[in-house]
Amino acid sequence: MVKVRFAPSPTGFLHIGGARTCLFNWLYAQAKKGKFILRIEDTDIKRSKKEFLDEILESIRWMGIQWDELYFQSQRLSLYKEFAEKLLRENKAYREENQAIVFKVEPSKLKIKDLIHGEIEFDTSVIKDQVLIKADGTPTYNFACVVDDATLGITHVIRGDDHISNTPKQVLLYEALGFPLPEFAHIPLILSKEGGRLSKRTGATSISEFRQMGYLSEALVNYLLLLSWSPKDNQELIDIQKAVSLFDIKEVNKTAAVFDIDKLNWINSQYIKKYPEQELLEKLIPFLMRRGYLCKDNLNREYLLNVVKLYKERLSTLRDFVEWADFFFVDEVTIEKELQEKFFKKDLSKEFFLFLEKLERLEEFNISNIELCFRQVVKELNIDSRQLIHPVRVALTGKTVGPGLFEIIYYLGKEKVTRRLKRWIN
Ligand code: GLU
Repeated sequence: MVKVRFAPSPTGFLHIGGARTCLFNWLYAQAKKGKFILRIEDTDIKRSKKEFLDEILESIRWMGIQWDELYFQSQRLSLYKEFAEKLLRENKAYREENQAIVFKVEPSKLKIKDLIHGEIEFDTSVIKDQVLIKADGTPTYNFACVVDDATLGITHVIRGDDHISNTPKQVLLYEALGFPLPEFAHIPLILSKEGGRLSKRTGATSISEFRQMGYLSEALVNYLLLLSWSPKDNQELIDIQKAVSLFDIKEVNKTAAVFDIDKLNWINSQYIKKYPEQELLEKLIPFLMRRGYLCKDNLNREYLLNVVKLYKERLSTLRDFVEWADFFFVDEVTIEKELQEKFFKKDLSKEFFLFLEKLERLEEFNISNIELCFRQVVKELNIDSRQLIHPVRVALTGKTVGPGLFEIIYYLGKEKVTRRLKRWIN
C-alpha cells in the first residue's frame, strides 16, 4: 500500500510551496488508495512554536485535506537514540567528546532514482561525516527523517526540490540501518514572476494570508494543483475529485513553477461565480465583521444576500466585496478629494433636489420606479443622463464604478440615499 507523508517543521507558517507539497502527497495517496501521514518535525525546540503548529494544522484542514495519522518527532526521541546507538555498536558511527553521535560517511558513487527527475548521481566523497544526534540529545533532520520514514513504512518520499541534496545523505543512512529504500519524488520550487524565491516582498506566502485575502480554499487548491502539474486536456478549472482520478506523481514537471497571482485571481473569480450564494454569504460575514461593518446581532441575511448578488459576478476575492460594497455598511460615505473636485465642482443642488423629490413621492420604492424618476429628472432638466448618473453614484458610494445605480439606490434605501444626496444640496 502506498504510504506518503508531509513533514512540516513548525518553525514558520505553512507557505505556498509547503501547501503544494502537502497537496501532492495527499493527492497521490488518494489516487492510489493509500495513506497520508502528517509528521511534525519539531525537534528544534528553540525555533518550533505552537502558533506555527496551530496555523499549519488549521491551514491543512482549511484546504480540505485530512490526514490518516499524525506524529510528532518530539515524542519519538528515544527511537532516534536507539537507532543511533545501534550504528555506534556496529561501528558505523562514533561519539564525539561533546556526546554528539556522528555517522561515518564512506566515499562511494550513489545513483538515486527520482520519479520526477529520473536518475541522479552523487559522489559521497564530498559529504562530510553526518551528525545524527546533537550534543543536546536531539536528532538532526536527516537522521530523524530516515528513522521515521523507514519505521512508519513510507513508500514514497514526495518533497520539495530543495531537499535533493539531502537525499544521498539519507540514502546512506537507509543502507547503514538496513532499511529498504522508499521511492523519491522531488517537486520543483515555486518562483516569483521576477524569478527569485517567493517572499513577502513578492506578495503573500502563507496559506493563512491567502485565506485572509479572501481566496476560497477550493480555488487556492485548484491553483496549487496547476503549479507543476496539469491534467492531460490542460483544463484549468478542475475540482479535487477529478484531480484525484487523474493525478500521478510521475507526471509532475521537472522545471520550476511560476507563481502568478493574476491566474489565481481569475480562478478565484470563477469559483466565486459558481459558488452557492448562501454559502458565499456565510464566507463573507466574517470579513464584514472584521471590518466592523456587521456584528452578530445586526445580521440581516436576506438583505445581505441581495447585496452579495449584486457583486458576485465581479469579485476576484472575498475581500473585494468588503472594499467595493463598504458603502452599504457605513452611515456616512467618504468621498476622496479628487472625486469631489471632479464631480461636485458644479452645483448639483437643482438636479439632486428634483430627483429626491420624485423619489419621495413614489408610491412604491422599487428598482423600476427609481429608474423612472431618474429618467424624468433628466428629461425635465434636459440634461444628458451621464451628467446625473456619475455624480449620484459618487455621492452614494464614493466610487465611480460598481453595480447598476438603481439597484444600489434600492438596496441602500431611501433614508441613506436622501442623506447622502442632501449633503450636496445648498
Ligand atoms: N521538515 C522538513 C521541511 O519542512 C521536511 C523535509 C522532508 O519532507 O523530508 O522541509
